[in-house]
Amino acid sequence: MTEKFLLDESRLKSVEENYKRVLNSVRESAVKAGRDEKDVRLMCVTKTVEPVYINKALELGADLIGENRVQEYLGKRDELNLNGVERHLIGHLQTNKVRQIVGEVDMIESVSSLKLAKEISKVSVAKGIVTNCLAEVNIGKEESKSGIFIEALEDTLCEISELDGIRIRGLMTIPPICGDEDEARRYFAQMRQYFIDIKDKKIHNVNMEILSMGMSGDFEAAVAEGSNIVRVGSAIFGERKYF
Ligand SMILES: *Cc1c(COP(=O)(O)O)cnc(C)c1O
Repeated sequence: MTEKFLLDESRLKSVEENYKRVLNSVRESAVKAGRDEKDVRLMCVTKTVEPVYINKALELGADLIGENRVQEYLGKRDELNLNGVERHLIGHLQTNKVRQIVGEVDMIESVSSLKLAKEISKVSVAKGIVTNCLAEVNIGKEESKSGIFIEALEDTLCEISELDGIRIRGLMTIPPICGDEDEARRYFAQMRQYFIDIKDKKIHNVNMEILSMGMSGDFEAAVAEGSNIVRVGSAIFGERKYF
């Protein structure tokens, strides 16, 4: 970070309280849904958050972080205590950034097109690795969002399955902004069904293990519908000024 940075002690304290509270309520949501609390992982979404606050969550045991932007992540990761921490890219990825991020994160959750998958494949093969990915589904067919439409999902996954250097491990989604929890839950229920349907198709090289859905405002509904990664930012780190 180049600008002068002032540590906000009270924010540090609230990150600690928030992290513990959110972790608890994710576990409670799992139990309430009749699931094992260990089935659901809490991802700390760290976009726009300065390293010192992220490190607080890591110190408390957070073991999974999600970043949106390649540049931001690469710029701050050296200041993070990432020992034993899994890192996922969750934001929209442009093909011209693929080269910089492949090999630097454990998973790319935002594979939103065949074109992007092909680029990840090409770069991964060149680096001699296999990149774990999720297919991002645009469940609400929103123009403002990226992601694969449900109608195209199976065909796209079949095409991706033919590529070397990339392995699909599940699905990710961000539903439209919903008026209430019931509405959000209907989108999550649809996702759960597609997840099961795709799993039943047993597409070679495509594993349906991870269903990444639920954010600060709706993770309880997502967990009730089978999410096993909830991506929580503002409920842990506080409101963001941008993004
Ligand atoms: C920002 C972001 C989140 C977290 O959102 P909050 O509402 O702050 O919890 C989750 N997933 C993605 C893809 C995001 O960009």
